[in-house]
Amino acid sequence: MINKGVLAVVSGFSGAGKGTLMKALLERYDNYALSISATTRSPRPGEADGREYFFVSRERFEEMIKAGQLIEYARYVENYYGTPREYVINQMDAGKDVILEIEIQGALKIKSQFPQALLLFVMPPSAAELRERLTSRGTETAEVIKNRLKRALEEAEGIENYDYILINDKVEDCVRQMHQIIQDHHSRTCNRLEFIENMRTELHQISKR
Ligand code: 5GP
Repeated sequence: MINKGVLAVVSGFSGAGKGTLMKALLERYDNYALSISATTRSPRPGEADGREYFFVSRERFEEMIKAGQLIEYARYVENYYGTPREYVINQMDAGKDVILEIEIQGALKIKSQFPQALLLFVMPPSAAELRERLTSRGTETAEVIKNRLKRALEEAEGIENYDYILINDKVEDCVRQMHQIIQDHHSRTCNRLEFIENMRTELHQISKR
């Protein structure tokens, strides 16, 4: 297939605004499919099964691992999170650009299985701004905020493995830039291997006539 979709992984610190960016990207542009992960954590107020996540028991999650139904999975703060295989492969085959919003361990596993995947990391303009955003949500205790900032410091360790850093200062600008990067990725040689192979085969046949 020539127009296979791009596989894009989006990671970022908690509080960097990934959720808002994803929502805006899907609202604004047509060609995206957001993968819904399975998790063993409990739903937060307002979250629905099958919309934010597939909320499953630990037993069910372990069955999914054994059956090879997850492309990757990771443990994050005492819970399992994983990406269902079937949806991602089907959507890419249908030409959709698939977005995985996952943390860094998962992102690296994706890159080793799908070297053509595009890894994007969303950051706030500064550490002070990150603290400000976490504080102004008003929903987290000082202790939770401190832990999130510590976690950000740990996650900052592997950022060099990502292809692009997106600074989320203004959502509009950041979404436009994200869309542009993903669309440009379609033309990368690594995403055109089948096209190149087909071209070679055709040239071979034509040159024999
Ligand atoms: P939360 O519990 O706040 O929804 O998510 C916690 C972290 O897990 C976030 O960094 C989120 O991106 C990540 N995450 C969500 N789904 C997956 C997944 O399928 N695989 C991995 N590796 N991480 C995930």
